Amino acid sequence: MFYFDPLYFILAIPGLLLTLWAQWKVNSTYNNFSRVRNARGITGVEAADILIRQAGLQGQVQVQGTPGKLSDHYDPRNQTLYLSPEVARNPSVAAVGITAHELGHALQHAQNYGPLNFRMAIVPMVNIGSGLGYFVFFLGFCLATQAGVSSTIMWLGILLLSGTALFSLVTLPVEFDASNRARRMLEASGLMQPQELQGASSVLSAAAWTYVAAAASTLLNLLYYILLANRASRR
Ligand SMILES: [Zn+2]
Repeated sequence: MFYFDPLYFILAIPGLLLTLWAQWKVNSTYNNFSRVRNARGITGVEAADILIRQAGLQGQVQVQGTPGKLSDHYDPRNQTLYLSPEVARNPSVAAVGITAHELGHALQHAQNYGPLNFRMAIVPMVNIGSGLGYFVFFLGFCLATQAGVSSTIMWLGILLLSGTALFSLVTLPVEFDASNRARRMLEASGLMQPQELQGASSVLSAAAWTYVAAAASTLLNLLYYILLANRASRR
């Protein structure tokens, strides 16, 4: 089963290069603006407090710490903003930008933003499909290539895997919208000066590329399986 398929590399390499570039971009932009102190000297935790109050979400949204670097996220299940140690404690331009982005997700949740609801709804299906899909696909692949059985099982595997692709696609509007909300929130809050806003915005734009790279990789991966199944169908 593990043989060298040039088609796989042709399809995997662009996604891999884009992923590596996006990782480099987000890390360098973050490292840059995490060293720039914001004029007000407010940390991520302090910014969260102020922005939550301004958004009228006090008592609804909690703030907690989470280990790791750039591990910041919002969990809609318990309506909690999880901030990484650096973002929580550093009074940097990057920390305030990232906090505002995570609060953007909380606002999406509070306002029933469609793509976020859709993404939450498909999580169970995606979890089952991503694990089972590979197994079903390779079972179908072996049966089709070794025993000459029809490729229907491969297509069933692809159907299961397509949930992951759908998830990575719907993540794009969710992430772009959260960053747009963050920019608007920060502008209206008066917490940052125009130059600081630009810095925070470039951290968010860099982070958006990691989601674009993930979606491209997932789609190219799915395309590879589709081409394999197509090849087996024509045999
Ligand atoms: Zn996000």
